[in-house]
Amino acid sequence: MIRVTADCLFCKIVAGEIPATVVMSTDTTLAFRDINPQAPTHVVVVPRAHYPDAAALAAADPALAGEVLRTGAAVAEQEGVVESGYRMVFNTGRGAGQSVFHVHLHVLGGRPITWPPG
Ligand code: AMP
Ligand code: ZN
Repeated sequence: MIRVTADCLFCKIVAGEIPATVVMSTDTTLAFRDINPQAPTHVVVVPRAHYPDAAALAAADPALAGEVLRTGAAVAEQEGVVESGYRMVFNTGRGAGQSVFHVHLHVLGGRPITWPPG
């Protein structure tokens, strides 16, 4: 099933209608650099299909959720941040900082990533 939502920024990036710096592409996922990076490596990984958040994706298609995570791990390897450590984050809901309602995995690394998060 192809799921596209009109006026979704990340659907438009997946469709190639809005440019992005793509760092990895698979049949089911796309990874591109965040336009407002919070770390030297800051890549967002999206499923090509539209789901609003991680909970909806996991409920509807757990295999695809796993593919998003697998692409995130492959991006971390490609970026050379595995040894130094990196963080994978799904902001879920406006109160947690989600601003784009097409599920996306943030992959952050290249500097110390502290805990607790802000
Ligand atoms: P979130 O706030 O968790 O929903 O994450 C959305 C992310 O998308 C933010 O980190 C933004 O900087 C990023 N973003 C917004 N517009 C673009 C764009 N055109 N290309 C790449 N990243 C973007
Ligand atoms: Zn979308």
